[in-house]
Amino acid sequence: MQPKYIIAAALALCTSCSKAPQQAELSYDNHLTTIKPSDNIWFNKKVDFAKSKNITVFVDNRLSGADGNVVAKAIKEALPVAQKYLSSISPNINITSITWGDVLPAPGTTYDVVIRADNSGTGAAPAWAHIPDGTGKVGDLMSINLDLNQTGLSWAHVYYTRLLVHEFLHTLGYGHTGAVSGGDYDANVEEMAIPNKHNTTQDPLQALMSSYNSLYSLTGYSGAPADFDAGTNPFYVFTKGDLAQLNWYYTLKAPYDVY
Ligand SMILES: [Zn+2]
Repeated sequence: MQPKYIIAAALALCTSCSKAPQQAELSYDNHLTTIKPSDNIWFNKKVDFAKSKNITVFVDNRLSGADGNVVAKAIKEALPVAQKYLSSISPNINITSITWGDVLPAPGTTYDVVIRADNSGTGAAPAWAHIPDGTGKVGDLMSINLDLNQTGLSWAHVYYTRLLVHEFLHTLGYGHTGAVSGGDYDANVEEMAIPNKHNTTQDPLQALMSSYNSLYSLTGYSGAPADFDAGTNPFYVFTKGDLAQLNWYYTLKAPYDVY
């Protein structure tokens, strides 16, 4: 049984922020031993494949790491790898371009997703993202907290790659796995439990979309596997439960359609 984190903060914040169009990433006490298949969450905001097949991304130069910020450097290294994983699992998901710049365009204008840097402090979430607005577009904004430094993890490159893939999955319409069993599920708002066409139990600390970023490596390695950056082995980033929920809306292509 994995160690626990602090729950009160998570629930209080979630309830108080009444599910703004961003998904709060908070460490929380995970009293779940396993996550049921039906714990995957869809925000019920349609995304047109014409949009998800051609996602253009703009990135704030503050995330280039040119000023020596180690979190920014880690994000700069992880972003092209996250792009590879996301663009290889489904015929309906493709990040086609990543543009860097100093002047951030308004979200939802010239680029599909704007990734900016923020300084929300060491007590805040490592990142957050907007969910789709229901018009068919993907969520238009992602924000990375430069103050929360996880680069000390021996497998930090895997961590930051998973963090970015997690946030992109919010922009693609997914909520936090575990919300049903974790009591953080609000039927009155957008969230809906994804029908459990699969029967893949999920480890609460391994599931990519749990509402915190697991401090546990999926690879079981200290560091990243030699072929991690190739983006060809889904199990370096996704659990089977993660893949099952992706397949439910976007359809996965072989060999990733295993769950
Ligand atoms: Zn999240």
